[in-house]
Amino acid sequence: MAMGARSAMSCSFDLAHYAEILEAAKAGRYRWTTFGEPPSRGDLFLRHDIDLSLDAALRMAEVEAEHGVVTTYLLMTESVFYNLASHEGVAAIDRLRELGHAVGLHAVHPNVELDERFDPVVSWHNPKAEYMSATIPGAINVYAEPYFDRATYRSDSNQNWRSGCPHEELRGGGFPWLQILVHPEIWVYEGSTMGLTMRAMLNAEKARRLEQLAADGIDLE
Ligand SMILES: [Zn+2]
Ligand SMILES: [Zn+2]
Repeated sequence: MAMGARSAMSCSFDLAHYAEILEAAKAGRYRWTTFGEPPSRGDLFLRHDIDLSLDAALRMAEVEAEHGVVTTYLLMTESVFYNLASHEGVAAIDRLRELGHAVGLHAVHPNVELDERFDPVVSWHNPKAEYMSATIPGAINVYAEPYFDRATYRSDSNQNWRSGCPHEELRGGGFPWLQILVHPEIWVYEGSTMGLTMRAMLNAEKARRLEQLAADGIDLE
């Protein structure tokens, strides 16, 4: 293949390219797996740290399910942006489980309270180096060995793949195995910069909040 689909592909942060990444992994014969067994050749651990939006998480989870892909959603109990204990939060976990995804905890250090909602899998929110890769009693730390190794890790933080978008290497089978961190908000809401994407998210959020206010009996006239 010369200058074909590969070079034409633009690595934008939207659901169309996300689907292309999933397809690339399929072409590279990778195996979707969740945290539990140590990585072996061909394993692909895709995790989502849900910082801002359950809606975005659910949109992405549906896309993955359409592609037969299973990933791990790490949800916060201490988010200022969403409430996991609300009916929306409960419904979100139910739907993620229904689609076959794993659900773990996106924890704020040092709090790790793994109740029945979560698999014993933890990712730290905005981790600091001194505890990031330390063992967590009773749980898998996704930032610890054997799951975490810079050479086999890619993160989309702030719309910036520091070592490049992984689609090409996935397609070519270039990684022995890989852990990928994807933040759904970045992909579901569109914008050519992180700032514009966040503003698109806030616009969607405003519409959602107005509906919630109406449902709560608030007079919006
Ligand atoms: Zn790409
Ligand atoms: Zn986070």
